[in-house]
Amino acid sequence: MQLNELEQARLRKTLAVVVPVFNEQAVLPAFHARMTAVLDGLDLSSHVIYVNDGSTDDTLEIIRCLAEGDARVMLVDLSRNFGKEIALTAGLDHADADAVVVIDADLQDPPELIPELVAHWRDGYDVVYARRTSRDGESAAKRLTAFLFYRLIGKMSRVRIPEDTGDFRLLSRRAVRAVCSMREQHRFMKGLFAWIGYPQVAVPYRRAPRHAGATKWNYWRLWNFALEGITSFTSVPLKAATYVGLASALGAFGYGLYIVLRTLMFGNPVPGYPSLLTAVMFLGGLQLLGIGIIGEYLARMFNESKRRPLYFLKDGLHEASGFGPGTAVRPEPCAGTAAKAVS
Ligand code: UDP
Ligand code: MG
Repeated sequence: MQLNELEQARLRKTLAVVVPVFNEQAVLPAFHARMTAVLDGLDLSSHVIYVNDGSTDDTLEIIRCLAEGDARVMLVDLSRNFGKEIALTAGLDHADADAVVVIDADLQDPPELIPELVAHWRDGYDVVYARRTSRDGESAAKRLTAFLFYRLIGKMSRVRIPEDTGDFRLLSRRAVRAVCSMREQHRFMKGLFAWIGYPQVAVPYRRAPRHAGATKWNYWRLWNFALEGITSFTSVPLKAATYVGLASALGAFGYGLYIVLRTLMFGNPVPGYPSLLTAVMFLGGLQLLGIGIIGEYLARMFNESKRRPLYFLKDGLHEASGFGPGTAVRPEPCAGTAAKAVS
């Protein structure tokens, strides 16, 4: 009987939950409580990997205190703030499990959805992504820009990037390996998740407002995120410059023809200074725009060509290579300053 149970435990599949955290002291205890309640109900042996993305508040201390009371808590501690995309990658690099769930710490993605994600994974899907049906607590402007962005990138890119999905999803082991094998610096994760292929399926859910703390995304960051997505997944803007150039050259040629004919028929009283200026400025603007677009791609090539590691861990230089996982470690014991927040 005893052996049977041991045997069962050995055969049980493993689940890792990867949580990138950056200054999340206000929500972490509540997040962990909800997460563990969900994990307890699953027939999987699980652990939670917190990736501390260079937090400057008590986040690390809270993770340590959480680990005191929960053997499932693991830590990947980055040497500074690298941004969510890289933090996520670091977590995936260190997740050695049959299935990996990626989730935000701010409780905008409900942990209660995980059993449903797991059920689809058991049905044989490699990527089970959560698709939001509503975005409570987000402004109309943010909703509109998000809507437009997904439609735009959907039109321009050759891989189908699912609309209205965040990073909240479950990945099978081979999907994790596939994503980790792509070591580019500019990591538009939604795109990478889609790019690997494999059977993928969506699960709808309601996106809640942030539980506590503030979002780290302002419009400037969102704009740059959108640029990142577009430039890493399509070269359509580069081609657009060609066609805009061609169209304006044709336009200019037609206009030139019209002026020649008009001069032949009606003589030339030398007007046209305003139209000349307009044309010069318009073309100058187009040229700068074209150079700017080339610059966006060139800058990314420059960054990629350095071939730097994606991140460093706080202790030790080591970066998991993406070919074979590194291992997340148990956090050090907590000093007790944050113990109150956790209990
Ligand atoms: N995050 C991170 N590094 C950063 C910014 C954010 O690890 O530089 C984490 C953050 O702690 C949270 C998740 O990424 O768990 C999503 O962040 P946020 O809620 O600010 O983004 P939003 O939900 O507004 O897209
Ligand atoms: Mg959030």
